[in-house]
Formats: sequence, structure tokens, C-alpha cells
Amino acid sequence: SAKATGRGNWRRYDPATSTAVGYRLELRTALRQALQDDALMVEYQPIIALGTGHTAGFEALVRWRHPTRGVLSPGEFIDIAEESGLITPIGDWVLATAIRDALEWPRTASNTYPYISINVSVQQFRSTGFVDTVLRLLTETGLPPARLVLEITESLLLRDDDKVWNDLKRLRQWGIRMAIDDFGTGYSALGYLRQVPLDIVKLDRIFISTMATSTRQRELVRGIVQLTRTLGLTVVAEGIETERQRAISMSIGCGYGQGFLFARPMSHEDAVAWTRRPNAE
Ligand code: C2E
Ligand code: MG
Ligand code: MG
Ligand code: MG
Repeated sequence: SAKATGRGNWRRYDPATSTAVGYRLELRTALRQALQDDALMVEYQPIIALGTGHTAGFEALVRWRHPTRGVLSPGEFIDIAEESGLITPIGDWVLATAIRDALEWPRTASNTYPYISINVSVQQFRSTGFVDTVLRLLTETGLPPARLVLEITESLLLRDDDKVWNDLKRLRQWGIRMAIDDFGTGYSALGYLRQVPLDIVKLDRIFISTMATSTRQRELVRGIVQLTRTLGLTVVAEGIETERQRAISMSIGCGYGQGFLFARPMSHEDAVAWTRRPNAE
């Protein structure tokens, strides 16, 4: 109708919209440049064994040192990276960087080397030669496969895809552990945990925050954690910000936790110093 056309026209010239479109285009071009200019960096956030307080591993989290806008967090550019196909080269760069950094971390107070947990997008996982890239990096660097965790999301498992399935199995046969990230925010939830080749479940932080205020929610999450453990999977509670959240996470059976209560994501140098501390809390 004329009205709809009118609205469409108006929208096309809406200064707010055109600014947003322009901003995204600008970011896309700048992101491609950033990859070439070494303007991306990786920070590491400790993953803590809740029983002992020792650091079990670190999660790698990418950042972008934008020339004029300061340091951007993934929430500000991962979407753009995905729709422009840049997520795969960015992810491969994070993989190589984080593995190299992890090799320099010393033993922790519990006399073990921390593992490195790396986020893998659906696109990157499905890209040609992904598994070979991972295995080649391990061979070249000498990082033991047991020190590598790959974090995938529920969306990778949505379609019943033999290739994805076989790749997951192949990675696990090499001793690499697979984690499901942001667990509970996706679609299929508990049903597939029984079948999918997985080692670790990272409980989304929405559960951790609501658990502290709602008894009903806590019992629900306790059930999820118990089922997960029955299946032989390790549970990491994400986004622990308070002492109370830590205590509840522990009491419902989460073996590990990650969050601002313990530490914010930090530089590689700080991760080395963090690992070296004699008394990890
Ligand atoms: P994620 O994998 O679930 O990572 C955890 C996010 O929660 C990180 O945000 C971390 O800084 C934040 N966080 C940790 N503890 C707390 C806490 O106690 N409270 C709160 N409010 N937040 C906490 P970040 O670094 O902004 O990353 C956001 C997301 O971007 C990640 O969520 C992950 O999905 C994605 N991402 C980060 N790095 C990469 C990467 O290298 N590749 C891919 N594909 N995605 C990445
Ligand atoms: Mg993650
Ligand atoms: Mg997560
Ligand atoms: Mg999350």
C-alpha cells in the first residue's frame, strides 16, 4: 500500500538507521584491517576448582583495540565478524595465540598446568579443515591435547549433522575436551546431553544469578547439575559474582566456577602471575 511504501521510504532516510548501517559497515572494514594489523588481543579468565580454590584453567576471550573507540568487547563485534565471514580467521588467530600463551603458564599451586578453554563459533567449527588446524597446532606447539578445551554452543548441535558429529568425536579421540557453553539458554536443553560427545557443561550465568534469589530456581538447577554429573560430565558455573553464588554453586554440585568474584579477564602476563601465586584462594 501507499502507506507502507511511504513508511519504507521514510525508513530509508531515517538518520538513526543510516548511522547504524554506516557504523556497521565501518566496523566491518576496520575489523578486517584489525586482523592484519594485530589489533586483536586475547584476555584470560581463570576457571576455579570450587572445592580447593585452585585454578584449573583459563578461558580465552578476544578483544579489539579499536584505533578510535578504545577496547571493544566481543559483544560489540562478534555479530559483525559472523555476518562478514571474519569469525573464522579471527577464531583461528585466537586459537593459535591462546595455545602459544598457554604453553608459558607455569604449574598452579596444585602442581598441574592450567588448561586453555577456547570459544569456537558455529561457522569456524564447520569451516573446511577445522579439526586438522587444531591438531596441527597441537603437534607444532607440543601442547598436550588434555590441556585444550573447545567451547561450542547448542546451536552447533541443532541440526543433525554427521560431519559435526564425526568432528566432535575425532577431537575427543585425540583427548581434546569439548564443552557446551551458555548451557540452558538454547533450545534442546537436557535431552541431547545423553548422546552428544561432550565433557564439560558451562551453566549460563543467568542460572547462577537467579539461583541466589529463588529457591525454586535453585532446585531446578540442582536437578540439571545432578543429571549432568550422572552422565559423567563436569559442570562449570559461569558468572559467579558473589560469595553467596559461589556457595550455592558448590552446594548444588558444580565442581568449577568462573566469574568476577575470582577474577576478571586479564592479560597473558597477569595470567602467568596469577598461576604462580602460592595460595590461590
Ligand atoms: P562466554 O564464552 O560465555 O564468555 C563469558 C563472558 O562472560 C565473557 O564476556 C566474560 O568476560 C563474562 N564474564 C565472566 N565472568 C563474569 C561475571 O562474573 N559477571 C558477568 N556479568 N560477566 C562475566 P566477554 O569477554 O565480553 O565475551 C562475550 C562472549 O563473546 C563470550 O561469552 C563468547 O560467546 C564470545 N567470545 C569471546 N571470545 C571469543 C572468541 O575468541 N571466539 C568466539 N567465537 N566467541 C568469543
Ligand atoms: Mg565461553
Ligand atoms: Mg559462556
Ligand atoms: Mg555467556
